[in-house]
Amino acid sequence: MKPSEVLSMRECRWVRSHLSEYLDRDPSAPLSAEEMIRLQGHIAICERCASLSDDYRETSIALRQYRQSSDAESIKRLSESLAKLSSTDETSN
Ligand SMILES: [Zn+2]
Repeated sequence: MKPSEVLSMRECRWVRSHLSEYLDRDPSAPLSAEEMIRLQGHIAICERCASLSDDYRETSIALRQYRQSSDAESIKRLSESLAKLSSTDETSN
């Protein structure tokens, strides 16, 4: 894949739609080895997706901690902020 393709808007959208599977290692929707490489390769060169990935990771860790404490209200709030993160669409600018 050429660098211009790796940094395309389409690639950003693909990465964003798979960030949760990648960061949570969701066993119900695992990424293939190729998808993992594609995602990691994009994050390595795309600042926007890298910072989104950091945000997502932090929120995801917080969400796990809240799940352990069984605080339903906090889980709801965090789930909503996660949904907002993953629905970020820059084409609407
Ligand atoms: Zn990107």
